[in-house]
Amino acid sequence: MNILAFFAHPDDETMLSGGLLALLSKTGHNVHYLCCTRGEGGECGDPPVCTQEQLGKIRELELTCAVQELGGKSLNFLDYLDPLIGADNTMFSFTHDLGKLSMELANFIKKNEIEVLITHGSDGEYGHPGHLTVFQVTRLVIKSKFPKLNWYTVQAFYENSLKPHLLNKNDRADWIIDVSSVRNEKTRAALCHKSQHALFVRSKSKDLGRPVNVAEVIASEESYSFANGERDVLKNLPAFKEKLIFIRKKDDEI
Ligand SMILES: [Zn+2]
Repeated sequence: MNILAFFAHPDDETMLSGGLLALLSKTGHNVHYLCCTRGEGGECGDPPVCTQEQLGKIRELELTCAVQELGGKSLNFLDYLDPLIGADNTMFSFTHDLGKLSMELANFIKKNEIEVLITHGSDGEYGHPGHLTVFQVTRLVIKSKFPKLNWYTVQAFYENSLKPHLLNKNDRADWIIDVSSVRNEKTRAALCHKSQHALFVRSKSKDLGRPVNVAEVIASEESYSFANGERDVLKNLPAFKEKLIFIRKKDDEI
């Protein structure tokens, strides 16, 4: 299958769905990556790995490295500029021109014969406006041009999650996947995003009251909502059928 991982910033692919993406590549599927920005407005690291002006170029290289670790087929950028974080940590979207972005997404889907789309969820995970833009545009494009396209959103809500603050409260999880078999690939991909390491470990270090390393914050459980499509294609993949991967189903299917 041709799969598209469509995200707002470098590192979203790894931290939100690196396990599933690595698994799909490992089982012979073509995973294409389309990233809206180069994360120019993000943090430069602690200590900084570069200046703010250099960050876009650095994060492009970091994502190239991560896509390699996850076994991706191709990586493309949409050249939007990621705005700097404002006062009081206010975050902004990279565009308000949903028409232009819709066209770019639709063209990519057509050109690469995409059969499965994986994107941000309906609450932008922690409410990031750039993530919300990606969700809204994906919904628009599917509704208007590809009504049968299979679409999964990341970080879907389920009870007793280890990281509830990062889940999309309005998306019920259809699948919770044990990605421990590809934890090494996911960790190596996270290590590629060197400029973001301080950010990755900040909240857990604070919670535990000691410095933690990147490997310690890599989740081995990922959850997905089946947002659109005629059949839940992940369910029919051989590796998944053997129940090696999916560990829980939606309540009404059990
Ligand atoms: Zn992001």
